[in-house]
Amino acid sequence: MVAGVNLINGMSVDVEDWFQVGAFEKVLTRDSWDTLSPRVERNCEVVLDLYAAAGVKATFFTLGWVAARHGPLMRRIVDAGHELASHGWDHARVFALGPQAFAADIARARKVLEDASGVAITGYRAPSFSIDARTPWAHEILAEQGYAYSSSVAPIAHDHYGWREAPRFAFRPLADAGLLEIPVTTAQVGSRRMAAGGGGFFRVLPYQFSRWAIARANGQDQRPAVFYFHPWEVDPDQPRVSDAPLRSKLRHYTNLQGMAAKLTRLMGEFSWGRMDEVARIEAARAQVWQPAALGAAA
Ligand SMILES: [Zn+2]
Repeated sequence: MVAGVNLINGMSVDVEDWFQVGAFEKVLTRDSWDTLSPRVERNCEVVLDLYAAAGVKATFFTLGWVAARHGPLMRRIVDAGHELASHGWDHARVFALGPQAFAADIARARKVLEDASGVAITGYRAPSFSIDARTPWAHEILAEQGYAYSSSVAPIAHDHYGWREAPRFAFRPLADAGLLEIPVTTAQVGSRRMAAGGGGFFRVLPYQFSRWAIARANGQDQRPAVFYFHPWEVDPDQPRVSDAPLRSKLRHYTNLQGMAAKLTRLMGEFSWGRMDEVARIEAARAQVWQPAALGAAA
């Protein structure tokens, strides 16, 4: 373990197939998905093996669309001791849905996830971390539907997403409900905040950056890190989407080959657990945080 720190960090994987990536959505539209070869089940088996070898229990934030087509996989995830949680229905971003459509999206996903797995779903991660300043209603709807926590905020400025003003660690977005928001990990250096919780950043940047950022969250900040990746990131043989934007392709296909070894190293150097476990620990100290504009409107 790094620096003798034994904080439990949140390990998670966002379960979507290679053709459901936000950056490809203009090229691979939703009506084409059922014509493409699924690889998510095979890739999740690779992920399950990596976790088993490392002795890590994690959270699988899974699309309802995937659960509807791969029911037995949902069972295997739960039987292996992992948490099954929701990633919404078909990766529509929260800010693109509006309140009614969002409520319907998460209810539909949850029903399929619960029916397939036989367990209650209490965690949610928005597609592309799309809960931000534009969606003041999202946490309220999650609380109404009985979720215990959300891990849907990236407290950074990014070209696709981000809620720059949000706290870096777990907070209560509602004064009158227990719902926790547990943002993905960032690194703060002076006034600069960088994404440091996984995904493409973990794959593309040197391993030492993630190691440094997680050690810093655990050490200097004394808080758990929240890390995520995708099943397609451990699949170097996935079909190449040739007519996607160059920038998206560069992000998507860099270092897929080295990802599994990098993940194994990361899991060996820190303590990891399920997000619901992190939520239980963080609930004791999370403070209410609401943007000033929301407070004024209430
Ligand atoms: Zn996703």
